[in-house]
Amino acid sequence: MTHSRPARPTTRRIRIRRIRVAGLVVVIAAIGAALGHQSLASPSSPVAPPIDVPRSEHRGLRNEHRGESDSAVPDGATVFDDRIPGVANLDPDLLGALRRAATDAADAGIEFLVNSGWRSAEYQEQLLREAVSEYGSEAEAARWVATPDTSPHVSGDAVDLGPSDATAWLSEHGAEYGLCQIYGNEPWHYELRPEAIDHGCPPMYADPTHDPRMQQ
Ligand SMILES: [Zn+2]
Repeated sequence: MTHSRPARPTTRRIRIRRIRVAGLVVVIAAIGAALGHQSLASPSSPVAPPIDVPRSEHRGLRNEHRGESDSAVPDGATVFDDRIPGVANLDPDLLGALRRAATDAADAGIEFLVNSGWRSAEYQEQLLREAVSEYGSEAEAARWVATPDTSPHVSGDAVDLGPSDATAWLSEHGAEYGLCQIYGNEPWHYELRPEAIDHGCPPMYADPTHDPRMQQ
């Protein structure tokens, strides 16, 4: 901390060096006094204020919000974590398909982590507000975050998964379980499409604004 402060006049260093020979205790006392004096003498010293780290990633705006709501999912949650509301409140059919897929993927050494699952309407509203502020407009935010009325997360019908090896596995095998990527711009967002088991997943929407469910 003191290293980043502007150098004090050499007289102070000389004084401290002299004191050092007097013994460790004295030196510590002198440094403490010097520090105290410095901070008193320069109340506007460059102590950096907390800075909001800009969010640079499009991962469903999830990590930054953990702990702010019941429906924010803690780090490392899996599709088997029944005690986590974001997991437990998912649609039972979706959750069943996820667990079957996760069990099979585990044979390939792949673990499904839930980055976001069911969300309360309040939490969805918060995510939307933050997305508007981050993306600069409601129109751009709508490409990434739905409203509480339209989000399939709020109804428990969507899950955001990671890491990338899990979503890569799902992009190859998910249809066998009825698990489909819905939006081209969200490779982590999966929903249940039971007909996919027989017919494959439907074509993706480029992004949520092309999804008729979002036109409300
Ligand atoms: Zn999602």
